[in-house]
Amino acid sequence: MRDLIEGVARFRQDAYPARAELFAELATVHRPTTLFISCSDARVVPELITQSEPGELFVVRTAGNLVPAHTPGSDGVAASIEYAVAVLGVRSVVVCGHSACGAMTALAEEHDLSAAPAVADWLRHADASRARAGTTGSGAGRVDALVRENVLAQLANLATHPSVARALAGGTVTLHGWVYSIPDGTVEVLDPVSSVPGTRPADRNATAALAA
Ligand code: ZN
Repeated sequence: MRDLIEGVARFRQDAYPARAELFAELATVHRPTTLFISCSDARVVPELITQSEPGELFVVRTAGNLVPAHTPGSDGVAASIEYAVAVLGVRSVVVCGHSACGAMTALAEEHDLSAAPAVADWLRHADASRARAGTTGSGAGRVDALVRENVLAQLANLATHPSVARALAGGTVTLHGWVYSIPDGTVEVLDPVSSVPGTRPADRNATAALAA
């Protein structure tokens, strides 16, 4: 805890004054450009990876970057998605998976989750991801395949939310699937265009640029 308190002191002393003008504007303006949905994993830091300034990313983080498909009744993830898309009017949504994801590893390697029943329940939202990835391969390759398929499956889930469906139909939002590699800092841009309406095929060409 002392590290955090010291961090706040450094923020107040150095980082905040360096962006005083920006923070003054943000005091009354909240206009993020992107809804960024990533895993809760401490090694994945959306603002750092994308070099974004405060106010640019509206971030939702869940274990395994899972986005439950729309169902009647509300939950925190659905409310955050709706607020970002329908109220704040973000222009893009990124679902970002990552290498060595604990959630995807548990599923790919069929870990015993009986001691973590809430985690086991939550990971059922990746059932379609597992179905897409199949059961071939082994070890890290199998986890990597599931990480990718999971991002695509969550993009499909995202499109079931009415606010997202409306924005896609109106052409006001685009969906993007990324996978961040922790050991080398690259971002792979997936091409979900065949499975999710409203996604941009141009992303395929961005992979090399992002990975460079
Ligand atoms: Zn993860």
